Amino acid sequence: MITEETKTLVDDGIMLPLMEEFYTIQGEGYHKGTAAYFIRIGGCDVGCHWCDVKESWDPAIHPPTHIGEIVEHAIAKSKTIVITGGEPLTWDMTRLTGALKAKGCAIHIETSGAYKLTGQWDWICLSPKKIKLPTEEIYPLANELKVIVFNKHDFKFAEEQAAKVSKDCHLYLQPEWSNREKMMPQIVDFVMENPKWKVSLQTHKYLNIP
Ligand code: SF4
Repeated sequence: MITEETKTLVDDGIMLPLMEEFYTIQGEGYHKGTAAYFIRIGGCDVGCHWCDVKESWDPAIHPPTHIGEIVEHAIAKSKTIVITGGEPLTWDMTRLTGALKAKGCAIHIETSGAYKLTGQWDWICLSPKKIKLPTEEIYPLANELKVIVFNKHDFKFAEEQAAKVSKDCHLYLQPEWSNREKMMPQIVDFVMENPKWKVSLQTHKYLNIP
């Protein structure tokens, strides 16, 4: 847990509340199928009701871990790193990404974009949430826009968000897992009518890997 002693170090991004880290296959979006080392940082107050990692929300239950330790574990497995959460931008990512870059890593982030963008990124996957919209600064920097579709209103939201990203940004619609059977036919129809979008599936869940 984060104590008074570690709070300053966490605030400075020297330590981070580490929920889990694992080497697996990226299951979603543009880099689907690519082996990567995932670093899941605890802490998120966006509050999506369908969130499938609610245990990530409270940073206090995840051990503050020195970034040197995180980097050592990561580079022992892969030079392709995905930083996810929780919401990793809850914290200052400058030091962690700087240390990974110094080791020659390609660094991806999965973020709602709700907080100030810190860190150096080779790939920004922006997954905006209606209840806490991204900061304006992140839209033009996103390499990939991944909108989670829970109901039919999310198609309108997806188009609103797509209007804010760069023309080179890759656009994905991904069904929310628990609602996938209901929403998939509508997503398929939407993508066929609007082919600038692609379908993203959480293939790691079908493969039964983390
Ligand atoms: Fe969960 Fe991500 Fe929403 Fe946070 S932003 S509540 S981690 S889905």
